[in-house]
Order: sequence, then structure tokens, then C-alpha cells
Amino acid sequence: MKRRVFSGARPTGRQHLGNYLGAIQNYVNLQDEYDCIYCIVDIHALTSLEDTGGLQKNIHEMMLDWLAAGLDPQKSILFVQSHVPEVMQLHTLLSMVTPLGWLLRVPTFKEKAKLQPQNINYGLVGYPVLMTADIVLYKAEVVPVGEDQLPHLELAREIARRFNNLFGNTFPEPEAKLTSFPLILGLDGKEKMSKQLGNDIELALSPQETTERVMTAVTDPARRYRTDPGHPEICNIYRLQGYINPLELDSIGERCRSADIGCVDCKMLLAQKINATLEPLRERRAVLATKPQYITDVLLDGAQRARVIAAETLSEVKQKMGLI
Ligand code: SF4
Repeated sequence: MKRRVFSGARPTGRQHLGNYLGAIQNYVNLQDEYDCIYCIVDIHALTSLEDTGGLQKNIHEMMLDWLAAGLDPQKSILFVQSHVPEVMQLHTLLSMVTPLGWLLRVPTFKEKAKLQPQNINYGLVGYPVLMTADIVLYKAEVVPVGEDQLPHLELAREIARRFNNLFGNTFPEPEAKLTSFPLILGLDGKEKMSKQLGNDIELALSPQETTERVMTAVTDPARRYRTDPGHPEICNIYRLQGYINPLELDSIGERCRSADIGCVDCKMLLAQKINATLEPLRERRAVLATKPQYITDVLLDGAQRARVIAAETLSEVKQKMGLI
């Protein structure tokens, strides 16, 4: 029997190159080896209450990109978190076994509390409990994560372990599966690529728009003139070349150091490679975009399949906790 993978992502709408290299490609590759469950976590998005009016559009656009990238509803369960209400019940039950101190120590809670001091809501504190419920509701054994998500997963393991100790062995402790491209920096070369920070390249852009975005990227700040030798090791364009254009990486590095290639030409080369890589995805996306009902049906079918597993786990949990 295949091991079960679970991963969730917030409904951020159109996906960008960082999502693709850091997560989606990995999701697609895992489909043959594992029993995969991929979820758009719309309830998590409510912790900040930003633009809830755009949620449905964001879910639709995100699923378009996921399907266009190769996620296959015949192989994986693809659904929206709130379509499986059992997760909210399990969240409440797990909150009873989770010491508050564990949650207040989570570094991302402190960071988020700083970002929205006017709205430090209970959901923000309980976020890791809901994340644990997302995973253990399906008894997932493996969770693909980036390095920045490791502390959350460790907490999920602790909550699962504590439940098992108190009520008997119920949940597998989910293992981290680090993605091969853990952290993709944005065009500013400083922060993780993110739509919010405006340093991203959306997958659905046209080739021309992609080229224009790449041209805005920060490179080696010490390279002021075309004749200055560059330092590729500190340049994010060089890093992106490593992901998108690995065969030419060594030669680009040498040509940069000897000032044989300028940053404009280097960026043009990267933009061409990104466009060539994404061309099949963009073609599939354009076709899928003409079939909105298909996207809805994929998500409804995914939720139905997820609910079968969820109902079984929840019933077991309630029995063990003495509720039924
Ligand atoms: Fe970066 Fe390329 Fe410019 Fe070198 S030539 S600094 S690798 S953009």
C-alpha cells in the first residue's frame, strides 16, 4: 500500500514561479509514488481576514495552475479545506490536548502578531492545531515542506504524539519530506518569492510580461558597468538559472566572472528558459480556463473522497475521547 502524503496551501490565487519550483513540481512528482491529498486551506486564510471577497476567485485560479502543472484528480485528492467540515471538529478536539504554551512559542505566531497587532485573534494562535488537524484527519504519514515550515510540522508531530499517549495509538506522526528547492527568493533577491511582496513571476503571465518582470530583478549590486566582473554567487538571477537552466549554469558563472556576459543578456536568457519551461503549462491552463465547471467538479469530487476518510478518523477520535 502506498504511503499517504498531505499538503495544504493558502488560496493565493494565480501561482508564481516560487510556488511552482518550491512546491507544485514536487506535488506532481509525488503523485505516482504516494497516495496524495492536496488541499487549498481557505480557513487558514481567514486568520488575517484580508480580502475574503476574493477567496472563491483565488481558489479557482490556484486550482487552474495546479491542474495545468500536472496535478491529476485521477491520482490525487484535490479539494478545499472548508468543504470537509470534519476538520473543524477535529481542530476543536485537538485543541483540548494542546498546551497553550506550545502555541505561544511558535515563531510564526509572534511574527504574525507583530504584522497585525490590531487583530491577534484566537485563530492565529490556534493555527498550528488546525494545521495538525488537516494532516492527521487523513492519517497522512508524509508532509512535503520547505525548511521554513519545519517548526510547524514538529509541533504537529508533538500534538499527534500527545493525543496517542493520552487516548491510544491513533495518528501516525507525520514525517517531513523536504522539497529539493526549499526556498526560492523573489526578484528583489532578499525575500522569499511572494505575491504579497510583489517580487514574483506569475506562471500565467505572457512571455512578454515574463521577460519584463525578469528585467526588473536585482543582480550583483557591485556590477555597475557591463565591463565589471560579476559575482554570480551573490546574484539571485544566477540562483534562478540554477533551477531553470542548470545545464548552462557553470558557463554563465564563468562568463559573469570574466564580464563576458552582461546582466541584460543573462536575464534575457533566463526569461527565454522560463518561457520555454512554462509553455506547456500555459497552453493547458488556457484550455482549462474555458471550462470553469470542470474545476468546480474536480473540487466537489475531491471533497467527497476526502470526507469518507475524514468521517472514519473523526469517529475513531470521538470514540477514544469518550464522546460516543
Ligand atoms: Fe547575475 Fe547574470 Fe549579472 Fe552575473 S551576469 S551578476 S549572474 S545577472
